[in-house]
Amino acid sequence: MSTAVDDLGAQLIAAESAHVAHNYHPLPIVAARAEGVWVTDVEGKRYLDLLSAYSALNFGHGHPAILAAAREQLDRLTLTSRAFHNDKLGPFATALAQLCGKDLVLPMNTGAEAVETGIKVARAWGYRSKGIAPDAATIIVANGNFHGRTTTIVGFSDDPVAHDDFGPYAPGFVHVPYGDADAIAAAIDENTAAVLVEPIQGEAGVVIPPEGFLRRVRDICTENGVLFIADEIQSGLGRVGETFACDREGVVPDIYLLGKALGGGILPLSAVVANEDVLGVIRPGEHGSTFGGNPLASAVGLRVVEMLASGEFQTRAKALGEHLAQALQGLVGHGVTAVRVAGLWAGVDIDPAVGSGREIAEKLLARGVLVKDTHGQTIRIAPPLTIRATEIDWAIEQLRHALS
Ligand SMILES: *Cc1c(COP(=O)(O)O)cnc(C)c1O
Repeated sequence: MSTAVDDLGAQLIAAESAHVAHNYHPLPIVAARAEGVWVTDVEGKRYLDLLSAYSALNFGHGHPAILAAAREQLDRLTLTSRAFHNDKLGPFATALAQLCGKDLVLPMNTGAEAVETGIKVARAWGYRSKGIAPDAATIIVANGNFHGRTTTIVGFSDDPVAHDDFGPYAPGFVHVPYGDADAIAAAIDENTAAVLVEPIQGEAGVVIPPEGFLRRVRDICTENGVLFIADEIQSGLGRVGETFACDREGVVPDIYLLGKALGGGILPLSAVVANEDVLGVIRPGEHGSTFGGNPLASAVGLRVVEMLASGEFQTRAKALGEHLAQALQGLVGHGVTAVRVAGLWAGVDIDPAVGSGREIAEKLLARGVLVKDTHGQTIRIAPPLTIRATEIDWAIEQLRHALS
């Protein structure tokens, strides 16, 4: 019997490999259903999800409150386009603006679209408000960044896999080392419209900048009349034990870029959030998206924001994050060379002597734990914020075995 179901998994993987473009290299598990922090494959085997779709599942799989919001909206109204108003966008935008302490929300769908929107807003602000000469605006970005996959965004990636052979690349981006505020200050000139950074670099392996970096970026941007754009698409919405990773230093950027968890793990929903003096530069017709701000996504996003407004997920992520950090520290010197932890988010560097990140991820898969490697030797841990301490302990036990 187990051969027959084994065959189903293998068949489905073969079908994917035959007919889906090879732009990913997935681990060999075929998920069929999931609830909370647990995923079940087509063979009925259960796995603890320590990836959460790169933080898009901060509230876990099928959170009842989010599902209820989606189900209720599915039967009422799903799409209008922005040619007309709908009765969910206003409440969603009001709640999200309040969560961010800002005036305006520009809704999009994917994270990359939010980044693209942020770039357009910063450039328009540069010309219309700051008075930068036409087509001269630049944006300062960090080495090791990950902001998405569009042609403009990969043009300023320094990861060869993301970047190479997709040129010609859009001009107007200036690179500085990540976490180096002096380099940002030195790179600013009269054409600088914005500084775009991840408050913690997720894809790079949960790279946390030196303490005080975000405060200095804020000060430097304010002193020089430059916009501070925080890409909180992966770091935001509770992951680090605060609503935003910028909150760890008490810093408020000029523009928040949000995505991933904003869609509650159900659908793509992203947003650019800023004050009127910044986002107000965009005029009707200059930017948009057919699906951006649709009532189904707005209903889900509203529920997500309501859940975050209570603060309970942030508190939970902070407390359990300390638990996770302590457990992971115990592995340093035992197959792990370094760990970086912020809330329920960790980068774990694997000692090459015990294997690559991919090999450890495969061993964990066999033990019923889902993680993903990044950049060769690192595995990233980002469980749903609903995970329990006992489940973290069990996962760390599996990691200990996988490393030995
Ligand atoms: C995932 C991610 C993006 C891109 O989001 P998509 O929804 O995949 O387009 C942008 N910035 C950061 C920091 C991310 O982690």
